[in-house]
Amino acid sequence: MFLKGTELMFEEELQQLKDSCLYRQVKSLRSTGAVTAVWQGREIILFCGNDYLGLTRHPRVTRAAKRAIDQTGTGSGAARLISGTAEVHTQLEEKIARVRKREKALIFSAGYLANLGVLSALAGPEDLIVMDKLCHASLIDGARLSGAKLRVFPHRNYARCEEILKQESGAGRRLLVSDTVFSMDGDLADFKELIRLKQTYRCLWVADDAHGMGVLGQNGGGALEDAGVEKEADVITGTLSKALGSIGGFAAGSASLIDYLVNRARPFIFATAPAPSACAAALEALDIIEEEPEHRMMLWRNIQRMHEKLKASGWPMDLIQSPILPLMIGKEGDALALSESLLGLGYFVPAIRYPTVAKGKARLRVTVSAAHTPDQIEAFVEALNGLKTQLAEAPQP
Ligand code: PMP
Repeated sequence: MFLKGTELMFEEELQQLKDSCLYRQVKSLRSTGAVTAVWQGREIILFCGNDYLGLTRHPRVTRAAKRAIDQTGTGSGAARLISGTAEVHTQLEEKIARVRKREKALIFSAGYLANLGVLSALAGPEDLIVMDKLCHASLIDGARLSGAKLRVFPHRNYARCEEILKQESGAGRRLLVSDTVFSMDGDLADFKELIRLKQTYRCLWVADDAHGMGVLGQNGGGALEDAGVEKEADVITGTLSKALGSIGGFAAGSASLIDYLVNRARPFIFATAPAPSACAAALEALDIIEEEPEHRMMLWRNIQRMHEKLKASGWPMDLIQSPILPLMIGKEGDALALSESLLGLGYFVPAIRYPTVAKGKARLRVTVSAAHTPDQIEAFVEALNGLKTQLAEAPQP
């Protein structure tokens, strides 16, 4: 049989992606602030990042990272179980455990790896994982890696979830998995329902609070703190890369669970430990979240402002639940065109398309940060409104 040259094969597939408006390219930015950057020589404002509190630029956070580099160097030098565990790793884990009201926490090099590690360690081929359809890719990948039977229920359809749990009455371990705040839709899971299901069907509840930590809760402790159900999740996973302004991920739970992950979670065991500077930054960010609630208050004022302006402009807006306010477009090409037009006006909001979201559900995922000014939000919505023709051509609004 004739085998195509590898290069040709790649090019053909890439062409198919281009033809269906699913081709992706990185844009290289020079960051100038938490929500500002220079791209191709021009100033742009970002309405797409996850630096919800603007802490990547907080002087205390940047100072902490620099100090850690000066004291302990740039890299951690080895995996955690070899010589890679520095004091700052342990301090950060203790702090996360305190904030999340758990016995222990374990940090990973990314939130993605925390989810991959938790699910692949906690479940195996004899086990069952039941998951909301809109869970983050890292949870889906972790479930696949585990070899467990994966059953997915439609987004927030807990009646369907219950049917699945009734049908699947095997002897193995059962994991009920959900984001707390859904990353592409910005809505919240129904924690009461998840707790009821977990208790009735004897599951371990894994809650990914990547977008809740620092943003929700009286003390910025996350979505579970906000709902008063902090003690219910068996495993909480999260990231240091969003409201905490750093990079890395974590899992928090009982002492024996964390001990188990240390011994079983391959992304923990086999990856080099996160850089001490990243951990020092996250540790400082957690202190700031406790000591300076004004950043969270500013964030919520900005969310409210953006929500009102978008709603007044005719965009269908759900309840305000998080800093993620998706503008649903539908067709991939329409979303791309709108995103390009906005960039031309100095606003960066990339089109989110398949496979991040379902085909035909392309969107502009607008996110708000405490670092945005009211003027920037106002001008952004005006710019959107100015693109009237394109908006009119899109199916919604
Ligand atoms: N979970 C969710 C819900 C996320 O949105 C993300 C990041 N997009 C992750 C996990 C992965 O986190 P990280 O970026 O730290 O790898």
